[in-house]
Amino acid sequence: MIPFIDLKQQYALIQEDVESAVLKVLRSGQYILGPEVGELERELAAFAGTKYAVTCASGTDALMIALMAKGIGPGDAVFTTPFTFVATAEVIALLGATPVFVDIDPETYNIDVAALQRAIVALRGCGQLKTGGGTVDGVRARAIMPVDLFGLPAEYDRINALAKQYDLDVIEDAAQSFGGSHNGRMAGSLAEIGCTSFFPAKPLGCYGDGGALFTNDESLTQLFHSIRVHGQGQDRYENVRLGITGRLDTIQAAILLAKLRIFQQEIEARQRVAASYGAAIRSAGLPLTVPTVPEGCLSAWAQYSLLSEDERHRQSILDKLKAAEVPTAIYYPRPLHLQKTFANLGHRAGDFPVTENVAGRIFSVPMHPYLTDEKIGHIVHAMK
Ligand SMILES: *Cc1c(COP(=O)(O)O)cnc(C)c1O
Repeated sequence: MIPFIDLKQQYALIQEDVESAVLKVLRSGQYILGPEVGELERELAAFAGTKYAVTCASGTDALMIALMAKGIGPGDAVFTTPFTFVATAEVIALLGATPVFVDIDPETYNIDVAALQRAIVALRGCGQLKTGGGTVDGVRARAIMPVDLFGLPAEYDRINALAKQYDLDVIEDAAQSFGGSHNGRMAGSLAEIGCTSFFPAKPLGCYGDGGALFTNDESLTQLFHSIRVHGQGQDRYENVRLGITGRLDTIQAAILLAKLRIFQQEIEARQRVAASYGAAIRSAGLPLTVPTVPEGCLSAWAQYSLLSEDERHRQSILDKLKAAEVPTAIYYPRPLHLQKTFANLGHRAGDFPVTENVAGRIFSVPMHPYLTDEKIGHIVHAMK
């Protein structure tokens, strides 16, 4: 059976490094904020090309810390897409702010920048979020949280320009795109604050939960450090703001340091796998839309997602892959605006037609750096 993401094969490559690094931490007794954490932060910042990187307990916490550092809360609107993992919008709502969903681009599945501008203008005009089934009053446009879906960076040149024009903050959800880039700049560094996740299945994963924030701003970095440890001030028992228990533990930092050594090579291998899928699908003549990577972008290929013709076509392909013992996944079958969690926003089916259409047709096939052309051939053949 072909694994969806092959972490065992990767482990065999780095086993000695990881095991000796973890053993060193176990013997050191410095389980929280040991020296490996600072070392990892320096290496992550160098990799992303930012001045600072601050690690934290998960990708969700990274997004949460970013919003808290910007003082976002009740009455604030944060623009994002309904076609993402729930965490993106969840943290906005957890802080009492309002997620304002914007439809996606039909080719990249990332936020549609023209629709974003329309949503900003509409909200600023009346302070009201109008949805298919209701209105939310008294919300002020504050920030944009674009998501780099499946590893492909969103259109930051245009998004940052809009943010400047309308005086909004931009927080990049780079949970899936770390290792990717946009016009020569690395994912995580594409907005004022970048957030990523080290969940095991992400392009750079640890062996538990983990995340990081990236920025060039020193005062934001100080806020991230403070919020990460219960809003601490100059010393441990001085609390100057609300915070969380948001640290990355030393063992995970040691694991990530070992994995970072092969990460660039893995990102290159993912490009080969994606190209090989594309070529095999085209030569098989399958009626599937392969992912679009716009000029100047490099995807980290967190997922390789294909667009079928319709829901029935998708089901027939998923059935064939299942029969051939090829694992598949659907990211994401139900858009966030139609989830019960966000029912209070009053959305209805039809509010975001591109998202709803794509959610009914998309599916993902195995993607990891160690997938051979032979296995790719087998997977594509099984879809016929
Ligand atoms: C995985 C993911 C997150 C959350 O990361 P965790 O480390 O699981 O908390 C946030 N946003 C997106 C788009 C993700 O894919």
